[in-house]
Amino acid sequence: MIVKILGSAAAEAVPALWCECATCRVARKNGGKDIRRRTSYLIDDDSMVDFGPDAFCQMIDFRIDLSRIKRILFTHSHSDHLNPVDMQWRQQGFSVVSSNIKIFGNNLVMEKIETLTKESFATMMIEPRRIRAGSKIVDDDIEIYPLEAAHCLKTKDEQALNYVIGRNSRYILIANDTGWWPEKSWRRIRNFKLNAAVIECTSGINPLYINGRKGHLGANASVEFRSKLRELGALTAETPVYVNHFSHNGKVLHKDLCKFFKPHGIHVAYDGLTITV
Ligand SMILES: [Zn+2]
Ligand SMILES: [Zn+2]
Ligand SMILES: [Zn+2]
Repeated sequence: MIVKILGSAAAEAVPALWCECATCRVARKNGGKDIRRRTSYLIDDDSMVDFGPDAFCQMIDFRIDLSRIKRILFTHSHSDHLNPVDMQWRQQGFSVVSSNIKIFGNNLVMEKIETLTKESFATMMIEPRRIRAGSKIVDDDIEIYPLEAAHCLKTKDEQALNYVIGRNSRYILIANDTGWWPEKSWRRIRNFKLNAAVIECTSGINPLYINGRKGHLGANASVEFRSKLRELGALTAETPVYVNHFSHNGKVLHKDLCKFFKPHGIHVAYDGLTITV
């Protein structure tokens, strides 16, 4: 399985559109790995995790053929992960679209797509699949295991999801917008021998947030998260681990993040990075 990081930023992107902070100023100047689009992943050219406001430039920059995408798994409904407006251009009359796409996500994801586009799923050639944590979904040759995150703390009505995704007996954990997991997710992850893991690090290395665990993780908490996955047997010392989903407020210049994570043997994700699972 090949997983491509299409975006590695949190909600405001890096540099944030309007921001004058030191990180954003330097990121604008540096370009390259300091430019971070909103978080999204491509899996083997036929599946995606999240579809946010940077989908158009991700499609162009990474030469993605969206007509080959059979399914999108949504982590949650926040606007950096779900941009329903671009879904509505799937309608006949706006685009020539020859096959349906399956959308996996929680109830709020489905509601948001319907209310913001004001269109039916059928019109947009979307097959909605409402899912909850704890289930196992097999779709063609792909296995999907949604896990409950501790992320939507203000809107308690939403269950944000992290995913173990499997294909050909190889498994990756994609855990962005996690917060520190509830016990049931730690219990469930014990059943997996992961071949790779992506852990969020939204709050980065800013000393104010570096230990943060509520709703998002700071860098120290990302390292602890990795340790706990190892303790539970889901990862070995050799399993590659990546951090992703960075906010400019976390002082997240690529070279500074690499300096922090190198001693821990954790890789820092960047836009365009390819992970072979
Ligand atoms: Zn996010
Ligand atoms: Zn900034
Ligand atoms: Zn979020």
